Amino acid sequence: MRDFVNEHVKKIKPSGIRRFFDIANEMDNVISLGVGEPDFDTPWHIRDEARHALSRGRTFYTANAGLMELREEIAGRLRRKHQLDYNPKEEILVTIGGSEAIDIALRATVCPGDEIIYLEPGYVSYLPCIELSGGVPVPIALKEINQFRLTAEELEATITPKTKIIIMNFPNNPTGAILEQSDIDALARVIMKHDLLLVTDEIYDDLTYTESGHVTLASVPGMKERTVYINGFSKTYAMTGWRLGYCCGPKAIMEQMIKIHQFTIMAAPTLSQYAGIEALKNGDASVEEMRQSYNQRRRYLLKELDRIGLTCFEPLGAFYIFPNIQEFQMTSEEFATQLLLEEHLAVIPGSAFGDSGEGYIRISYAYSIKELKVAINRLEQFVQRLREKALYGEAAH
Ligand code: PMP
Repeated sequence: MRDFVNEHVKKIKPSGIRRFFDIANEMDNVISLGVGEPDFDTPWHIRDEARHALSRGRTFYTANAGLMELREEIAGRLRRKHQLDYNPKEEILVTIGGSEAIDIALRATVCPGDEIIYLEPGYVSYLPCIELSGGVPVPIALKEINQFRLTAEELEATITPKTKIIIMNFPNNPTGAILEQSDIDALARVIMKHDLLLVTDEIYDDLTYTESGHVTLASVPGMKERTVYINGFSKTYAMTGWRLGYCCGPKAIMEQMIKIHQFTIMAAPTLSQYAGIEALKNGDASVEEMRQSYNQRRRYLLKELDRIGLTCFEPLGAFYIFPNIQEFQMTSEEFATQLLLEEHLAVIPGSAFGDSGEGYIRISYAYSIKELKVAINRLEQFVQRLREKALYGEAAH
């Protein structure tokens, strides 16, 4: 029989995160700090609203771009938080999570051969989505000495006449890095100078732990016209399974994205959209409560990692911490595999987020302090054993 599989798709590597869960799922007594999803339940008032919508028989397709009331609430949020003015009729599209938005933003804009810059270590979807869109992926390796922020110099040095888009994500998965106002202004200048499109995934924008909070590049004068802004409900409102996100951008681009969405998705799930309206209208207090809890865990982990001597820059956003494991002279995959097999603790090897994630592990702190305590004990034992082995050789054990 013929090989029916598309060669282009065959070359795409499956996510390195899943492999770890497959091993962890077969083991007993595993503590997993692997999954990038909130441990909180979706707040009750949001669940109630979906239940209410169901009782009222809201079980039909909505407009392709999403319920107008939801789009208006999204516009309101962006105005309130970021002083961004988007027209809900033409510039906002409700999607199946941020995931769909990333895919269709690229498919609607990339032409074969266009160079698309993305950041490493970075969220696992960008590279395959660039490849699927026919673009040429061009990574920038972010550095720990820069707190994994993107500098204007790094961006400038990577741009060629073929560069069309930069896709970025701050607050960042997997590093927890955020951008500062000075980075934002400098990056905006480079993006405008080279006439690039920015695709910005700001799905963790409510989860920052600084006084100033999150600032979006889209709010710099001149940037909104060349930005596709992506956000969603999964992280902020603990709604991963509802599959709800959104994107906003210039009408000319959104028109093309809506076409792809219309023919492949039709519309985001109706009950989820009603829940989304409630989340945006009345969810601020729940979000703040979860943010404070994440912050407590973040501080706890930073203190404990410091105590056991694992160096780690201070993450100021999202719910990830990215300790450096270079002293052990093993790959992050070896480190994570041994940690899982010997201590039944699952973390994600940094290399799952691109080659420049090598030498780090990603720990998610979307887990209770109780679980984090057990996890830290296991990590400490493991790290001590590795250090003793390095000092005294295998004979020590
Ligand atoms: N972007 C980033 C940076 C993420 O971490 C995730 C989820 N892990 C997503 C997008 C996708 O989220 P969703 O599709 O659930 O909105």
